[in-house]
Amino acid sequence: MSDYITRFDGTDNRFLSNFYRSPIDFEGKTYPTSEHAYQAAKTSNDDEREKIRSDESPGTAKRAGRKVTLRPDWEQVKDSIMLDILRIKFKGDSDLAKKLLATGDKILIEGNMWHDNHFGVCSCDKCNGKGKNVLGESLMKVREELKLFKVSPDSQNAINDIELENIQ
Ligand SMILES: [Zn+2]
Repeated sequence: MSDYITRFDGTDNRFLSNFYRSPIDFEGKTYPTSEHAYQAAKTSNDDEREKIRSDESPGTAKRAGRKVTLRPDWEQVKDSIMLDILRIKFKGDSDLAKKLLATGDKILIEGNMWHDNHFGVCSCDKCNGKGKNVLGESLMKVREELKLFKVSPDSQNAINDIELENIQ
């Protein structure tokens, strides 16, 4: 039977959360967490991005992200931007990449109680465990890419090409 990780918290699994402290180089700036980078990506206004970047905590960044001048195509691009940011967070031979690989074939689900059924799966009575789990799915996709990267140096180029495509 497959193992699951359904909570991105605690000593072992907190690194899977976007709230985990780990500097992310994203579009020319360094953000304290992947949450900061994702929230900043919502807007193309430099001042708003900078404000989010300087927010103390990822929770503050998340709240600030609700008030930005949203880029008009946000709903269409948000999942691929999240994937890009995760590729940066878990890149190459980094310690976080190794930790992600060490989860093996476990199914990753961002279980939550705050009704996020897009990026995770909320298990409250109302939501009843039905969610798209986009964050978990994206983490598993990055993990698969890292496995390829381990096998053959060529696949690193393939991954870089994908990244470049998405940035442009
Ligand atoms: Zn719920």
